[in-house]
Amino acid sequence: MSPIEQTLHRNLTRLRQRIESACRRSGRDPDSVRLVAVTKYAELDWIRPLPAMGVNVFGESRPQQLVERAAALAGIQWHLIGQLQRNKVRSVLPHVALIHSVDSPRLLQRIGDVAGELGLVAHVLLQVNVSGETSKQGFAPQDLRAGWSDILQVRHVQIDGLMTMAPLVDDPEQARPAFRALRELRDQLRRIAGDSTLLPELSMGMSNDFEVAVEESATLVRIGSTLFEGLG
Ligand SMILES: *Cc1c(COP(=O)(O)O)cnc(C)c1O
Repeated sequence: MSPIEQTLHRNLTRLRQRIESACRRSGRDPDSVRLVAVTKYAELDWIRPLPAMGVNVFGESRPQQLVERAAALAGIQWHLIGQLQRNKVRSVLPHVALIHSVDSPRLLQRIGDVAGELGLVAHVLLQVNVSGETSKQGFAPQDLRAGWSDILQVRHVQIDGLMTMAPLVDDPEQARPAFRALRELRDQLRRIAGDSTLLPELSMGMSNDFEVAVEESATLVRIGSTLFEGLG
């Protein structure tokens, strides 16, 4: 193995152990948690060895970089995790397996319109600002509840779940209420729609708080710095 591969292998092994321990603590199946390797600060040479190590889902925060990297690295799944402007929807949609960061009804509608034109169904998560910080993107929980039946009418989109960013805190325990609130909101939206199978995905948890997120039912953890630690 090259030095880059050795570092990635070591980081990944440790990361998977930590995810598995968090699953064990909370009685979950480790296969129910998917790692999204966040590559926004990673070089292509750090990404290339990962599929052979079983990492198949990659997250980019900038649409332009996602499109470029999807062209450079074939055969892997790309998720968009950062803000999407409506005028970028058309260029990114053909390359993205899941958009985590749909933060308004207008953006959702735009994605549905473009997906319809392109003849595809766009898979999305709705980003929720559960902490209510004004600096954060996302639906306010009360707006999502109030608009839920309209949102479910949007065509050519499949809403797979919810996503949130916890407040930046020193102690990961302090992020727990935000993760729990996202799960509870999901459960409320299921009840409103009378469908307990809706919104299976919860995208929450980053390098500094993913174990708490897994304990609170995350199905997608978005991890960058811990995975690429020691490189560059
Ligand atoms: C950068 C980023 C991450 C990963 O953050 P790390 O702390 O490097 O793990 C996760 N989610 C989003 C939305 C990001 O922008």
